[in-house]
Amino acid sequence: MESKSKRYIVVRFSELSLKGGNKKEFILTLIRNINEKIKAENIDAKVLNKRDKLEIISEKNIDKIPSVLKYIVGISSYSFFYETSITKKNIEEVLNNQLLHYPKDTTFRISVKLIDKELYDDKEKVVEWLAWFGTNKLGFKINLKRYKIDINIRFENGKAIIHFGKKDGIIGLPSGVNGKALALLSGGIDSPVAAYKTISRGVNTSFITFLTSKTSNKDVLDKIKNLALQVNKYNGIPQKLFFVNFERVQIEILKLNDESYRIILLRRYFMKFAELVSKKYGYKFLITGDSLGQVASQTPESMTQINNAIKKLIIRPLVSLSKNEIIKIAEEIKTYNISIGPGDDMCSSFTPKNPIIFPKKGKIKELENMLINMEDILYKVLDEETRVIDLGELKND
Ligand code: ATP
Ligand code: MG
Repeated sequence: MESKSKRYIVVRFSELSLKGGNKKEFILTLIRNINEKIKAENIDAKVLNKRDKLEIISEKNIDKIPSVLKYIVGISSYSFFYETSITKKNIEEVLNNQLLHYPKDTTFRISVKLIDKELYDDKEKVVEWLAWFGTNKLGFKINLKRYKIDINIRFENGKAIIHFGKKDGIIGLPSGVNGKALALLSGGIDSPVAAYKTISRGVNTSFITFLTSKTSNKDVLDKIKNLALQVNKYNGIPQKLFFVNFERVQIEILKLNDESYRIILLRRYFMKFAELVSKKYGYKFLITGDSLGQVASQTPESMTQINNAIKKLIIRPLVSLSKNEIIKIAEEIKTYNISIGPGDDMCSSFTPKNPIIFPKKGKIKELENMLINMEDILYKVLDEETRVIDLGELKND
């Protein structure tokens, strides 16, 4: 046992270019987000602010911290650190204990920093000794370019501080520094990725899904819940999921005899409704998974008419990504398999054969004028047909 050595985690920030108040808020939000997850997981640990980095200490649970950091945005990398007295025996003990389980011939390299030169004043000699230890005692092989283990050792304040390489974090801004927003979540591949991309720019993101009695079966509800829960893991603090039964609005739109404008009108009412929800709950903007030119409602003309339905900002983080790029992210954040699973959110009977690709402003106005009491209907849907779920209270699977 390395009884005399201390073990902790060092977390390095991403977005190092931030200055002044921004940087302070970045760090405080990052600490709050880590603490939030530590508490939710019942882990007994402390996060210490060391100005240009964080240290996480824990008596019993330090090995559980990586599973928390996996979902924290705003980290460039993190490492386990080992602190011991500078005697050769103690240093070798740490190396031995931490590296023993690697097979023979594992590649490694060594970096040494002598901040104070109390015991060792010749860096070359220290490197020589460690190289000898690595090759002769551990059976490893030195490889300065392609190495599996990166042995870093720093001598400072009468101590040796050792780490064995960096693990990548999620770069971006800590969720919450840019307030909160509402993502339109379908059961498809794109919208969960769009929500995630927004979260990684510092925005705590809630989710809203529009259903009808025809589409809200168990498969769909489970799928949406699981998608929202998965993406919600990246939020700084748990957010909400809104299930909206939009049947009343759909019935009104179906009364119009112009089939080709159905989808664009439905999308505009999605936005009008999401804007009402945002006013009630304080969301700063809306997010969709639209990517330019995939389907009829995603032409620049359609997007313009959808934007014009409301005053609130609509952000489309995926607009310039290819499907492959989107799928890659969906796989990384583990939403892809949920998205391609059972459960279809859109009512196929509602989708016309030939949806309009270049919708006209005048025509939209004419059609919407024929719909009466839509504002009342939207408020009724908000009061009577909207289920709000607190994602912090839903169980993770
Ligand atoms: P996705 O993969 O996210 O479903 P998509 O490429 O299939 O996207 P559409 O189905 O046209 O494209 O939807 C575009 C965007 O509109 C979605 O990404 C989502 O943000 C929103 N959206 C579509 N249908 C719904 C719905 N029923 N409830 C909430 N949002 C929706
Ligand atoms: Mg879809």
